[in-house]
Amino acid sequence: MALTQMQYDEIMRGYERKRDISHRNALEARRKVREAIPEYKDTEDAVTALAMECAEKVLDGDAGALKDIRSRMEEMVRKQKKLLTDNGFAEDCLEEKYECSLCRDTGYTPDGKKCSCLKRQILSLLYHQSNIEEILDRENFSTLRLDIYTDSEREKMEPIIRKCRSFADSFGSSYENILLYGNVGVGKTFLTNCMAKAVLDSGYSVIYFTSIRLFDTLSRELFGHDEERSWECQKDIFTCDLLIIDDLGTETVSSFVAGRLFDILNERDLRRRSTIISTNLSFEELGKRYSERNFSRIFGNYTILHPDAEDIRIRKKRSAF
Ligand SMILES: [Zn+2]
Repeated sequence: MALTQMQYDEIMRGYERKRDISHRNALEARRKVREAIPEYKDTEDAVTALAMECAEKVLDGDAGALKDIRSRMEEMVRKQKKLLTDNGFAEDCLEEKYECSLCRDTGYTPDGKKCSCLKRQILSLLYHQSNIEEILDRENFSTLRLDIYTDSEREKMEPIIRKCRSFADSFGSSYENILLYGNVGVGKTFLTNCMAKAVLDSGYSVIYFTSIRLFDTLSRELFGHDEERSWECQKDIFTCDLLIIDDLGTETVSSFVAGRLFDILNERDLRRRSTIISTNLSFEELGKRYSERNFSRIFGNYTILHPDAEDIRIRKKRSAF
């Protein structure tokens, strides 16, 4: 389960609230019916008496009597429905009404499987906390265009795109990290968004940060006073199924930044949680920035992808004229 226990409990409390409301509405409807149709209560008493008689016959082993009781019960239910409709009520006005009839607002279908309404809620929560909810509609594998690349660029990009797809397809069954490096505007962020959406749609938690925002967040949390929130934020960064750090190298490097980065990557590696990093820096520059030793230790278990093309953002703008 990609949600935290707290998030799951909150969703379940939502279902409880819905069931409470439908129960209260049904009680209120019953009160109104009894007020408007005094003889309705007699039919309810008759149904209760029939149910008790039925239980007694079962205990006595008198199976033959059940058929008769069943037909009297059906007759009584028909009478109730007629009373309701004759007095302007809907036939089913006393039934508890559920928002989702498949799971009766419990989140689980009778065979114990997650209901589609629960899956939808989980997915929407995962999207919401990803930090890139809005952009994923526009940037995903189905909107990825290869025709913006020249023939020779496309030849280099195709295996990279294939690798990104297979990373997303096998997410959860294997542990893998990706480092995308290349010039500005070759489509690295687009590719990370494609993977993010595919992984989210499979029900995993994804958190996206530009590196500037990540370190900003970490230092704000660290130097802030809200310890509980700080711990929650760090926990998400360490434990989410997929962490994306976009544009590594654009932040101001300090010993704090370098230290935190390697804490995060190290911790995630120990927990076997995947990370995608994109950067405009070359290996040499990365080594210089974050210390050669740390760099090779951490990135030793990353799949390195090097998209290589002209700045396609400029080309897209040109083609718009
Ligand atoms: Zn449902």
